[in-house]
This record gives sequence, structure tokens and C-alpha cells, in this order.
Amino acid sequence: MRTKLKCQAVIAMLLLGATLLPLAAEKVEDILDPQRANKGFITDSAGVLAPAYLTLINDACRALREKTAIELAVVTVGDLGGLPIEDFAVGLFQRLAVGAAGKDNGLLLLCSRDDRLVRLEVGYGLEASIPDALAARLLERSGLSYLRDGFFGRGLFMAVRDIAHTAATAAGKGFSIAEPATWPAEAVAPTPLARPAAKKKGWDPVQSSMLFAAGLLGFAALGLGWTILRFRRSRGKAARGKAIGWAIVPTILAWIAAAISFFFILGFSGSFLPPFIAMLAAPGLATAGQLLASRLLKRRLASYRLPCAACGTGMDMIDDSRDEQFLSAEEAAEEKAGGMDYEFWRCPQCGAEESLKVKLNKASTCPQCKRRTLTSNYVTMVAATREQGGRTRVIETCLNPKCNFSKIREHSTPRLATAASSSPGPSRPAGSFGGGRSGGGGASRKF
Ligand SMILES: [Zn+2]
Ligand SMILES: [Zn+2]
Repeated sequence: MRTKLKCQAVIAMLLLGATLLPLAAEKVEDILDPQRANKGFITDSAGVLAPAYLTLINDACRALREKTAIELAVVTVGDLGGLPIEDFAVGLFQRLAVGAAGKDNGLLLLCSRDDRLVRLEVGYGLEASIPDALAARLLERSGLSYLRDGFFGRGLFMAVRDIAHTAATAAGKGFSIAEPATWPAEAVAPTPLARPAAKKKGWDPVQSSMLFAAGLLGFAALGLGWTILRFRRSRGKAARGKAIGWAIVPTILAWIAAAISFFFILGFSGSFLPPFIAMLAAPGLATAGQLLASRLLKRRLASYRLPCAACGTGMDMIDDSRDEQFLSAEEAAEEKAGGMDYEFWRCPQCGAEESLKVKLNKASTCPQCKRRTLTSNYVTMVAATREQGGRTRVIETCLNPKCNFSKIREHSTPRLATAASSSPGPSRPAGSFGGGRSGGGGASRKF
């Protein structure tokens, strides 16, 4: 009991610690004032600057103040403690009080390592010479690309150099800072920071192709399972043969689905080859599986014997040629027309007999005698062309000797599709674009 309580206390403390951990972020009040610390201009709280860069940047800022009285402070932080960089910069600017009192000629370059943000805060006195748009351009000119690649020393030095040059020029002073002949080593290995993945416009072609192919194969496997189940549940040779015949249906559906999928993926990803390969491979594999399964089932069907309902023994099928002695004239006509199949089985063990019948589709049901003896013959009277439709004559005849049903009807067939039929699409006046519209522009300073 005691130990259990102790355990719970430890877990509670760990949880409390975990929730308090994010509070250990950087705060404006904790940033060291570089002037008070060492008469310098830079505080590297994030620890991203090698000593050589601290010297370079300090020297540049000192030279700027000596020539122009403008104060430029540089601060790096690990993160902004959840604050917007604008708020953090304003708070820090006030705390450090960069710039001469009354003149407000201070500048603060703030860089947050983990937020991957950089900001140039401009004192009131310099807002006329460095408006917001120019401040943004100064960051972008050369510093930002170095920061993006993880070169904090180079990035911040180049930003300081551009800012100092522009501020001095605006103050009417000729001023320039030389780039070092060789760049000193960076404090942290300059690995490019993870950039937010460019928002994808469509689908990933390979991924979506694989996903669709997997779906197709799953569907084909279900279809195959359905065929096998149908086969096993069917009683009699004809019924089982019919079940095997149905196996082609999921395969055909898989090819149709593959064609549709191909155009879908092509449209959404703009990539041709991955969906082309996937949408050939998946239904191809499904077809191979179906052919193999059909062959195995047909082999099993060849040795199939209907189990006797009475004793379970495999019965013998009575030869088709002798069927007629068991069949009525109508049934014989149905079997001959291909609308019905009749099977007769006899058990060699107990002599039990069983007859089975299965509907086949070579003939349909006659509307007059209701027997499966109606056959249809299609005769093309006028062939359809691209210019005009055709006419087909359907001659329906009942093969039941006791029925005289016969009917001739004609129906028209549609015009052949033109190979290059293209819809013109919405028209628009010549000499202009489609009429696209745009919202406003924008700019951001993230690295
Ligand atoms: Zn039997
Ligand atoms: Zn009939």
C-alpha cells in the first residue's frame, strides 16, 4: 500500500514536471543586456554564434555608433516563449532602451532559433528612413538565405552589414563594412533547417498509385473469395460450372476501376508513369489470380461427384445423351435451347436418385409458355455509321414444340462515336486570358 502511494506520488510529480517544462522558455526579462554585460552590442542567448562572429558583429555595431550615433543591438533567443515576435521585440527594445534618449535612433535585430523568425525592430526616430517595407527588404537582401541554410553567423552578420549601411546612408554618412576574406566556422553545424514542406497541390503520384492498386487488389481478392464460395455452395456440375464463369466479373470490374483510377491519379497528381504502371500491374495480377483459380476449380469440377443425400457417397451422373428419357418434351427443348440444364445423379451405394436444374443464359423465358426456350437472333438491317444510326432486327423464336411464339421487332442503333470528338469548351474573346482574378499580395520573413 505504501509503495503504491509512493509510486503515485512520483508519477504525479513527473506529470507536474512535464506540464511545467514548457514554461522554461526564454523571457524578455531574462535576456542579458549586452551593454551592461560587456559594453557589447550582441547577446547570443540561443548559443548559435561562434566567438569570431560575435567579434565581427560587435565591431560592425560599434563602428555604426561611432560614425552615426545609431545604436544597433543584436539578440538571439532559443525561442520566444510563445509570444509573437513583434511583442517580444517591442518588450526587449524597451527593456534594453536601444538608441539615444530623445532621438530614439535605435535598431534591434532579433532572431529566434526554434521559431525560425527574425525581426528588425526600428526605433521611432528611424521610422522615416527605414519604413517597414525597407526593413523587410534589408532582412531579405542577404541575411535570410544564410539563416535558412543554418548559417547563423553569416546570416546575422550580413543582415547587420546591410542594416548598418542603409541606416548610415539615410543619416548622410558614408559607411561600409567589409565582408571577411574567409568566413569563420559556425558555432553549430550549418545544417539546413527543416522547412515547412511546400503545400502539395495534388496527390503524391507514387503514394496514391500504390494506395489505389492496393484497393484494387483487395477488391479482386474479395471477388475471388466470392467465386470460390459460390463454387463450393453450388450443387451439381452445371451450377458449379456457372459459378466458375462468374469469376470473370470481378476481373472486368477491376480493369474498369483501374482505368478510372488511372485518370483520377493522373488528374490529381499530374504524373503519368506511376499510375500507368500501377493500374496495369494491379488488374493484371488480379487477372492472373482469377485465371489460376478458374483452372484449379475446373480441375476440381472434372472429378466432382454430387454427394448422396441419403448415404453421403459420391453419386454417378447419368450421361447427357440419356437425359431425354427422364425429361419431358418441354424440358428437353429448354436444355437444347440452352436456357436450362438438367442433371440426373444416381447413388451407386443405395440407389437414391437426385435431379438438379440450373438456369443457363443462352435462352430466355418465353412470355407465352414461360419455358426457358426463347432464342433471339440479331440481324443488322442497316449498319450504323459515323453519320447516322443503324437498324437491327431481332427475331425471337420459342423452341418449345408445344408453343408457337415468335416475334420480330426492330430497333435503331446509335451513331458510331467519332474518334476525335472534342467539346469546344466555353468560348472567350480572342486576345485575352481566361479571366483569372487575384487577391492582394503579401510578404513574410520566416527562415
Ligand atoms: Zn446413397
Ligand atoms: Zn414459348
